[in-house]
Amino acid sequence: LVSRENHPERSTVRVGGVPIGPDTVTLIAGPCAVETHEQTLEAARMAQAAGATLLRGGAFKPRTSPYAFQGLGEEGLRILAAVREETGLPVVTEVVDAQDVELVASYADMLQVGTRNAQNFALLQAVGAAGRPVMLKRGMNATIEEWLMAAEYIAQRGNLDIVLCERGIRTFETATRNTLDVSAVPVAQRLSHLPVIVDPSHSGGRRDLVLPLTRAAIAVGADGVIIDVHPRPEQALCDGPQALVFSDLGDLAQVMTDFPPLL
Ligand code: PEP
Repeated sequence: LVSRENHPERSTVRVGGVPIGPDTVTLIAGPCAVETHEQTLEAARMAQAAGATLLRGGAFKPRTSPYAFQGLGEEGLRILAAVREETGLPVVTEVVDAQDVELVASYADMLQVGTRNAQNFALLQAVGAAGRPVMLKRGMNATIEEWLMAAEYIAQRGNLDIVLCERGIRTFETATRNTLDVSAVPVAQRLSHLPVIVDPSHSGGRRDLVLPLTRAAIAVGADGVIIDVHPRPEQALCDGPQALVFSDLGDLAQVMTDFPPLL
């Protein structure tokens, strides 16, 4: 269903009216985690200042350590919905458990499946039936074939509004959190009609790499990027070191407009 063989035209997925697809490079930005209403609104205004048309933010956080901040849960979803009202930005947020899909879908414009759940087949089937567009991160240990098969689980439930997100894979390299696989973008676009975006924040895990990796993503033809921003990253409850700050926003906006999409 997601293969380009039977569907040669590349698809555009609309999220609350915002297109992600071959004719544009969509900027999705926002905080890694929703912490407070004030922080989420400030981050959303930062996102808008850089040209973002969709707001990201995690209410349910899949953390490596069970002792790390796990997200505000439904309270976080309420904050995201309020910030959508205030800014007009449709909301992309992660769901980590099949049991929460209905709840998250009742607040979100797009459901995100994270790298750690990329082969959680029960979750993939549940988001496939939720009636919302889905952003599917690549599993950090997944081949491109496995990633596309994960998308197939969603599509099989009748949902073809799927955006693939390359977010780095595990390699021997330790200088970055994960290694951004830029080749995955054109490879996945040739194999599948689905849009492919890149997460330069979670792949590198470092603020100084976000703009160079964004340039790389756009240069290889990504249909969008999803980027963490935070008004006070030194106080962030999650992934502060990778969040862009106010002074980075002009450069981000510049990078987004310097590189026209490869059509
Ligand atoms: C995220 O985008 O909030 C996230 C946790 O990303 P990943 O699943 O790619 O680590």
